[in-house]
Order: sequence, then C-alpha cells, then structure tokens
Amino acid sequence: MNQEIYCSVTNCHYYGQGHKCTAEKIMVTSDPVAHKLPDTMDALTSQEFPDSPVQSCMESCCKTFVAKEDPTRDGVQKLQ
Ligand code: SF4
Repeated sequence: MNQEIYCSVTNCHYYGQGHKCTAEKIMVTSDPVAHKLPDTMDALTSQEFPDSPVQSCMESCCKTFVAKEDPTRDGVQKLQ
C-alpha cells in the first residue's frame, strides 16, 4: 500500500516540507488512550492498543508525534 500522510504539526520530528509526514509508520489513536499509554507504545506495538472508537476527528491524535527538539523524549528513541 502506497500511502501519503499529510500533517501540519510543524514542530514534530517527522514533519517534512509541504506538510508531509516522513515517518515510515505512524500510530493514530483516541486522545484518552494516547494519554494513558507510555511513549514506548507506538506504531511498532500497534497490535497491543485497545480498540478506541471516537465520535469526531477532534478526539483522535497521532501517537507517533515527538517534538523536534527532543527526539529521545522519555528515553524513547523514535523511528528514523
Ligand atoms: S508523526 Fe504524526 S504528528 Fe508527526 S508529522 Fe507524522 S503525522 Fe504529523
């Protein structure tokens, strides 16, 4: 599957020119699940995430986000 992911979160480590996400894999989940799970839980552990339906886009988020200035946040080395 050839996917293109566009994102406007410019302070993310994976943000690329033209609003393109450069991460190989991302994990999107609900806001409550993202709050509850540690940073070690990400795309590589996607099968361990609980089902997390939401009512609108405002209740979901990218769990792969990591601040540009801190790619090892909480000691977790993110992909790439
Ligand atoms: S990892 Fe998530 S927040 Fe970061 S650029 Fe990609 S889609 Fe956006």
